[in-house]
Amino acid sequence: MAASFRIYNTLSRSVEDFVPQVPGKVGIYVCGMTVYDRSHVGHARAMVVFDAFVRYLRHRSWDVLFVRNFTDVDDKIIRRANELGEDPVGLASRFIDVFHEDMDALGLVRPDHEPRVSRCIDDIHDVIGKLVDKGHAYVSEGTVWYAVRTFDEYGKLSGQNIDELRSPDEAGGKRDPADFALWKCARPGEVSWESPWGPGRPGWHIECSAMGCKHLGATLDIHGGGLDLVFPHHENEIAQSEAANGAQFANYWMHNGLLTMAGGQKMGKSLGNVINIDVALAEFPAEALRLYYLQNKYRSPLPWSGDALPEALGMLSRLYDAREAAEAMGGEGDADRIAKEMGKTASDVLRLGRDFEARFHGALDEDFNTGGAIGAAFELARAVNRFADHKKARKRGGPIVAPALGAFALLADGLGLLGRPVSEFHAEVKVKRLKALGLDEAAVEGMLAERSAARAAKDWARSDALRDELEGSGIIVMDKPEGVQWRVRCVAPDSATA
Ligand SMILES: [Zn+2]
Repeated sequence: MAASFRIYNTLSRSVEDFVPQVPGKVGIYVCGMTVYDRSHVGHARAMVVFDAFVRYLRHRSWDVLFVRNFTDVDDKIIRRANELGEDPVGLASRFIDVFHEDMDALGLVRPDHEPRVSRCIDDIHDVIGKLVDKGHAYVSEGTVWYAVRTFDEYGKLSGQNIDELRSPDEAGGKRDPADFALWKCARPGEVSWESPWGPGRPGWHIECSAMGCKHLGATLDIHGGGLDLVFPHHENEIAQSEAANGAQFANYWMHNGLLTMAGGQKMGKSLGNVINIDVALAEFPAEALRLYYLQNKYRSPLPWSGDALPEALGMLSRLYDAREAAEAMGGEGDADRIAKEMGKTASDVLRLGRDFEARFHGALDEDFNTGGAIGAAFELARAVNRFADHKKARKRGGPIVAPALGAFALLADGLGLLGRPVSEFHAEVKVKRLKALGLDEAAVEGMLAERSAARAAKDWARSDALRDELEGSGIIVMDKPEGVQWRVRCVAPDSATA
């Protein structure tokens, strides 16, 4: 049976019990990308948050139907296409492919439906037709306008006052400054479709009303998107959908906070401060980005800096270290008895491992508190890493860490973290960080071989010098009983690299 949870609803400005329309089922619609360029790490936050949310609900036995759209008809797309002498829908389609590559590289689940505006023109006409018929929209000079004052509840999501509003849509025949375009009259040099009101193209907001209801019915369980979309986009979606269908459009409105740069700036192409997803993924594993986003509250602004990903990678490495240490422990017997014999570090691991599931679910079921859930995992990982220093841990610690290994598996299933074989993780880190630091694996191996030779010859000065040189360039050398091992440091010697 699906587990109950609570979620913050922007509409009521409070955390509410989630009540589905159909028991066990959740329909989620999330506003997707306007596709005219590559996506950056600010976009990735929204994608990762809703991916983790959907993944978690499925982990909790909810039957989730997940829809995220593509805006492939839009002013910015048309402008870019004209610059490049390309067909706008074709250009958008190209960037949808690029977006899919980025999302796959981030390890995200594909939504069940990914509708595109250019393929939903008939659905959009249907909604506009209803609005015209019901007197919520009017036609003027080939443009169809939404008459904002015909919808009494306008402003209920964002708290905006109609009298102070002016929509950016400007063309002839608009009756009220707040009215916005549902269908824009065709202009020379722009892509257009035939319609009952003449040739043109959809306004921005109407697509989500049409696509959401097409796949999820008149009322969505949860509508998601970035906080920057609350007004005007989501306010207008409500006005359109509720006036057309006479039903509440979405029962819960879930908004993720934005990535902020130094000084509180938003990340944006027009601001020239973007880091594209593919660039970040060339230097860091996708899981480091995932951890960076999820260790913070999804609703809060998230500060970005050059240290963000190196720090997240360092934290991720400690989680993998704990799992690796736990997996290496053997022995059998009654865990409580062994913990008593081995002392406090053992009993801490046992207790935290056994408590983990309740803490993990408890945090996530209360407004999707990923930071709390991940915090519990860190507490457990620290305890495991401390216990691993116990001289009998490797031989006898197996029963002590068994609940911890179960906990790490839960983290993988519920949030998509720590799910890969440890060796695969280290191999990826090695390749990407060496490249990011401009180092060459063969050269590192060569220096290590030289250092081993120096040690064999008891030339300690030479051996230490080589070690210092390696560490100075970001290579951590570990002399272990089974031989020399090395890793690339997560944070570069001269602090940030990203
Ligand atoms: Zn939307």
